[in-house]
Amino acid sequence: MQHLCLGTHDALRAGNGFTPRPHRPRVDGANDGELNQPHAKFLSDPIRLVRMVNQIRRHCSPNDLFHHPHKADGVSEKDWSDGVASTPSVAPSRQAGWGRDNSQTVPCVLFLVLLVSASHFALAADKPLVVISDDARRVHSAGFVFDGHNDLPWEVRQKAGGTFDKADIAVGVPRFQTDIPRLRVGNVGAQYWAAYVPAETSKENRAFTMTLEQIAIIQALVKRYPEVFEFAKSADDVVRIQKAGKIASLIGVEGGHSIENSLDKLRRLRELGVGYMTLTHSDTLAWADSATDEAKHGGLTKFGEEVVREMNRLGMLVDLSHVSPDTMRDALAVSKAPVIFSHSSARAIADHPRNVPDDLLKLTAKNGGVVMVNFYSGFIHPESARRRANMFEVSRELHRKFPAEKDFQAARKRWIADNPIESGDIYDVADHIEHIIKVAGIDHVGLGSDFDGIDKAPKQLEDVSKYPVITQVLLTRGYSASQIHQLMSGNILRVMRRSEAVARDLAKE
Ligand SMILES: [Zn+2]
Repeated sequence: MQHLCLGTHDALRAGNGFTPRPHRPRVDGANDGELNQPHAKFLSDPIRLVRMVNQIRRHCSPNDLFHHPHKADGVSEKDWSDGVASTPSVAPSRQAGWGRDNSQTVPCVLFLVLLVSASHFALAADKPLVVISDDARRVHSAGFVFDGHNDLPWEVRQKAGGTFDKADIAVGVPRFQTDIPRLRVGNVGAQYWAAYVPAETSKENRAFTMTLEQIAIIQALVKRYPEVFEFAKSADDVVRIQKAGKIASLIGVEGGHSIENSLDKLRRLRELGVGYMTLTHSDTLAWADSATDEAKHGGLTKFGEEVVREMNRLGMLVDLSHVSPDTMRDALAVSKAPVIFSHSSARAIADHPRNVPDDLLKLTAKNGGVVMVNFYSGFIHPESARRRANMFEVSRELHRKFPAEKDFQAARKRWIADNPIESGDIYDVADHIEHIIKVAGIDHVGLGSDFDGIDKAPKQLEDVSKYPVITQVLLTRGYSASQIHQLMSGNILRVMRRSEAVARDLAKE
């Protein structure tokens, strides 16, 4: 019976649309949830269910019950992966097998379907918590996390008057998703801190000044905790600082509105050590369309293209999170350096305009860039993404209605309470990572949590201490330690190095 069970599991894994991977021994001994999740998915999908029946049917002649039939009946690996197309009517060899023992096979199939369905429906209803094994801890601590986007500086401004005196992150600060003890548990070795200011500030000509204030908060962070943080301006800096046991700190300016249509201001930001700029935030600018506003230019204007070229010259990474697909396309066509998505997930998994469509994942792979997966529940959980599709539009309306920041925040809080979403879980985030690997390749995926910029996080990924859970899930899904290290930090380091080389080359021209 044990043998039969394993055979059935193999059949299910091979036929449910997931690429079979080498079996790794279970190291935690307590958590089977990861293996079960794909089954739970396909039981709600009739096409996958038909595949399963076909495959069990092939396994289930009396002779097969205790023997693997894979090669003996001439069924190729390819056939195993497209069971729907290979129905008995178009697969004579298998039809012969099916007819051979039909009377005994039918009850066998029904019995197995009922057995497997019952157990997996039960598990699907309550996915088990991931337990981190010693092996996963070892793998996680042998590398380090280089996260693409963290909004702690804005949280410190909003909730602590812009000073660490009122929020000493050396001790735990539970109202934040980020503090030093939890960064250490998460093995964060490098972090892009977001210098974010709302898009509305550009209408009052305050965007650039406020961006400088946010950069000052990041400088205060590094200055106040010098034994923990150190500024990094290059990939080599990141590696050196992380090796010294500190957290390499970099600055990402979130939104092109910060430069107030001025290349001079862009250069000044670079002088202050800004490592990337997101071309837009929620609003379409005079020179670039946002993903969450009316498209006015069909992507980038001529000036927008000039901004991208100048960023290449400065060695500043072009960040395409928040921008419209046309802006992504234009920037990818213009940029000589690899681009990043500092905090975006996969649109094919959760249909939110903030996520990256498949065709752009492929173009990003061609460009050599990296898509750093965002953890926000409203971007990673499919139903939550649907419910949050208009969140930026709602936010704009509320801003119009409540111009004072305090009133706006209160109204926004009410709207969120009136429109609840599912939090999703670690498995959802892993699905986004895997999808990007499938479409773009393992060289083009990273992590961009958006912690402290999100009001809801997936179960088991609630704060910066939780990154080891991702390592556990990826190990369980069959990824190697080196692949996991690559997506945790290796890919973004490669992109930085390439961008630095492009800037050096452009300086010679
Ligand atoms: Zn953002």
